[in-house]
Amino acid sequence: MLFRDIPGQAASKEFLSGLIKDDRIPHAILFTGPQGNGKLAFAMAFAAALLCEEKDGIEVCGVCSHCIKSLKYIHPDLHLSFPVSSKEGKKREATTSTDFLVPFRSFLSEQIYNGVDAWAKYISADNKPININVTECNQIIKSLGLRKYEGRYKIQIIYGAEYLSKEGNRLLKLIEEPTPDTIIILVSDFQEQLLNTIKSRCQIFKIPPFQDESINSFLADKVLDSKQREEVVRLAAGNLKMAIEIHQNEESEYDEILLDIFRGAYTSNITKMLKLADRLGQMNKKEMEGFCLYTLHFLKEYMRVVHLNATDTVRLSGKEKSTALKMTRSISVEMAIAIASLMEENIKNINRNANKKILWTSTMFGIEEIFAKNKIAS
Ligand SMILES: [Zn+2]
Repeated sequence: MLFRDIPGQAASKEFLSGLIKDDRIPHAILFTGPQGNGKLAFAMAFAAALLCEEKDGIEVCGVCSHCIKSLKYIHPDLHLSFPVSSKEGKKREATTSTDFLVPFRSFLSEQIYNGVDAWAKYISADNKPININVTECNQIIKSLGLRKYEGRYKIQIIYGAEYLSKEGNRLLKLIEEPTPDTIIILVSDFQEQLLNTIKSRCQIFKIPPFQDESINSFLADKVLDSKQREEVVRLAAGNLKMAIEIHQNEESEYDEILLDIFRGAYTSNITKMLKLADRLGQMNKKEMEGFCLYTLHFLKEYMRVVHLNATDTVRLSGKEKSTALKMTRSISVEMAIAIASLMEENIKNINRNANKKILWTSTMFGIEEIFAKNKIAS
């Protein structure tokens, strides 16, 4: 990741550029601010800028050996730490970031604007506790104590720094009196959850949300229809993570499938619903989970439409909103809650590798039952 690839955020970029030009780089810097502001991309781009030999501020050459390695996140002077869960066949105490370095590099390439929750999901650890453990802290101390390999700096990035437990205090001395040419970059969506002892020793750099026009330009080659793009930008409200999610949901057939399920349940058309169960059963794990999450998002927003009449602030696209408004007579809030619980249960079962056909068939019967009960009640 290079700064030129991050849309907008001119003031933040200029500030960091000034630090490099004036050689005022803090030994420990915390990149924070609201979710979806690009802080992980900023951390990686800042590291790349520090390592490039031909830079002017944050403007890197992009072609020197340092830049090439930074772009692939394989620079030997760039150390990456992040929260992990246990790795199969290894004790949790012994598991460190190194065990997950390969997937983390892919995550950086594919989802750098996403959050720690997405990272946990990426390594199928969303139901397991993740953290940065004592072994990792000791590893950081050890690797920063080594000599530099080839760069001007040794850089340690700690992503999801709020996952440093009390053991993080082992790093205090390192943050306070780092070895020469060592830069520690912490990244956190939740600054308030960080150990105070650590936070107070860092220069805190708060990155604001993206401006609408930056998100718009980021989406320009992904959402061609300018009206649709403006809608995504409006819903995302400066959060690029959210903008990408909304765009991906629109791309998928999730909304269409969900609407078909509701139509099938409303008309007690079990044959239609079982066909949909088949279609869902052919998806892979990630897609099935995506459908469940989409349904949960839709229902949550739907309840806001029904309950609060919040049609202006609701995070649904134009098409989804009109679907939601049409549904208000046939789906009560109680029904929406019951369907949401089914989907939550499904996510758990998908991750336990449940039989897909049984899972979706029973989901369809479950939804049909929720509709049927409601008809008797009304
Ligand atoms: Zn370079």
